Amino acid sequence: MEEEAMVKKKRAAKAVVVGGSIAGLSCAHSLIAAGWEVVVLEKTASPPSGSPTGAGLSLEPQARGVIDRWLGDPTILHNITLPLDIELHQAFNTEKKHVRTLVRDDHFTYRCAHWTDLHSVIHKALPPGIILWGHRFLSICSSDRASVKIKVQVLQSNEIVEISGDLLVAADGCMSLIRQHFLPNHKLRYSGYSAWRGVFNFSDDEKSNTISVLRRTYPDLGKCLYFDYSSGNHCVLFEIRNQRLNWIWYFNTPEPHKEGNSVTKKVSEEMVKNMHEEAGKLWNPALALLMKETEEPFINVIYDSDPLPRLTWGNVVLVGDAAHPTTPHASRSTNMSILDAEVLGISLKKSAPENLSMALQEYQAIRHPVVSKQVVESREMGLLKQGLLLRDEAALSSPEEFFGIQHRSICFYEQVPTAL
Ligand SMILES: Cc1cc2nc3c(=O)[nH]c(=O)nc-3n(C[C@H](O)[C@H](O)[C@H](O)COP(=O)(O)OP(=O)(O)OC[C@H]3O[C@@H](n4cnc5c(N)ncnc54)[C@H](O)[C@@H]3O)c2cc1C
Repeated sequence: MEEEAMVKKKRAAKAVVVGGSIAGLSCAHSLIAAGWEVVVLEKTASPPSGSPTGAGLSLEPQARGVIDRWLGDPTILHNITLPLDIELHQAFNTEKKHVRTLVRDDHFTYRCAHWTDLHSVIHKALPPGIILWGHRFLSICSSDRASVKIKVQVLQSNEIVEISGDLLVAADGCMSLIRQHFLPNHKLRYSGYSAWRGVFNFSDDEKSNTISVLRRTYPDLGKCLYFDYSSGNHCVLFEIRNQRLNWIWYFNTPEPHKEGNSVTKKVSEEMVKNMHEEAGKLWNPALALLMKETEEPFINVIYDSDPLPRLTWGNVVLVGDAAHPTTPHASRSTNMSILDAEVLGISLKKSAPENLSMALQEYQAIRHPVVSKQVVESREMGLLKQGLLLRDEAALSSPEEFFGIQHRSICFYEQVPTAL
């Protein structure tokens, strides 16, 4: 009897993580490091492979340091990323075909990756077997201070099973079902704009006309995060490893019809053709050419949400986009997800599993003020960039506004607190 009690006492506390994207896998790393047993449930059938899922993202130094620790070897992340030493914002005058520098930061210290590459290295560094692919979270059956039980659909067999743990980590993205369970009236907010996106792969022909023209027009590709502005529109351009160029074009538009739970919109051939025509009128010819040559461009509808009133309920905790849907302008979402995981891991490591609620309160106390402020500032940055903050919709015009479009204007740019 006593032995049984001892075994029970020694059993590692178990966390059930819903969502196997960046936030979920990051939490798996940080919770394992804190001594927890972890199971990750992901509804997609298998890990994403090299191809069109995802595009480019940029990582700040602090988040990179955290990932390096999880991977145990700093060369791994370094080898899948390219530097972003410069952040350059420039306005393109469509009539005069003239480019004007708005603001340039030569001390930018981010690095960029393809989403799939980042996901892959974080995934491969986890112990085998902890991710259950093809498992869709359906609902919470019960949750009290002692345990949490959820209902899950196994997609291959259609079987419905129950899974229990001591802690439920909601990493199920910006449309989070778990968030909806606790905050049924909390709505996402459409930003006022959507974005065409694409990744151009030039590994087949590094010396093509398109690439020569682009390298002439954007000579710092490979080390620069470019932003081009045209009234009511802006574009992001940067190079990612393995001969790929990532571009995003934000355009003001009424909220498109939502397709299911996805923020990615299917596009028709006609929409792509119209996009090419419009790009020819608005953008530097080199950028317009890049858009034309990119296979399978797609549209992301841009949402965020007002900061949540809290990030934890009993033994359930929200991380990543589930905790703070945000606009992408200050490269927050992936960086915030990694820091969420780091802080959650640190808080859990400090307290015994019996003091879970203290650990979760600490996580909330550290992360809630930071992510709330960053979401709001990222929203303002997007409105400024899209000319939606200015009453007369004039283009960006003053040095103060120029500061507000740079990454360094976002709060906690240098360092995000990880302890109280
Ligand atoms: C396929 C994909 C590609 C992406 N590409 C980019 C990119 O190129 N650039 C960029 O900046 N950001 C990209 N993102 C978004 C980026 O990962 C997030 O904004 C950020 O990293 C926060 O991640 P997250 O894990 O909180 O949310 P998400 O990345 O949205 O992940 C949520 C995860 O939860 C899973 N999930 C949702 N509901 C359930 C459920 N009921 N049961 C089980 N699992 C569920 C989803 O399948 C998904 O894997 C991409 C996300 C995905 C899923």
